[in-house]
Amino acid sequence: MIVFDLACECGADFEGWFRDRDDFERQAGGGLLLCPACGSREVRKVLSPVRSVKGGKGGEKAARVAVAASPEAAAGQVLKALQQYVLHNFEDVGSELARECLKVRYGLSEARNIRGVVTEAEEEMLHEEGIKLLKIPLPAKPEGDD
Ligand SMILES: [Zn+2]
Repeated sequence: MIVFDLACECGADFEGWFRDRDDFERQAGGGLLLCPACGSREVRKVLSPVRSVKGGKGGEKAARVAVAASPEAAAGQVLKALQQYVLHNFEDVGSELARECLKVRYGLSEARNIRGVVTEAEEEMLHEEGIKLLKIPLPAKPEGDD
């Protein structure tokens, strides 16, 4: 199935569901498309997503979402990619993370991507400093510790 945004000469816009593009062309060409608001056949396909701009329906926002065939697998892949990125591009400062964050914050250390671990108290302290942490689960380090 495909969905087209359709608009009528009366100003109404609505969605049309079709089996495929050919199905749409056939119905449109055959004058089979009717406006649900006024019954007019002067219905055209809206090429760009202008629906949310037009207002009239209370300015509802169109949310663009992606639907993965397997949400769990997709999430797993994204997480894995994020983990790889962080592992390769962030300097591991281990339990010094909170201290390093503050050093960077106050110009005592060079601003850079760092990762590590924080205790709850440290996290709270960083939060109060306005430092935002991105928390992602990372695989346990294969080699011991530093
Ligand atoms: Zn109409």
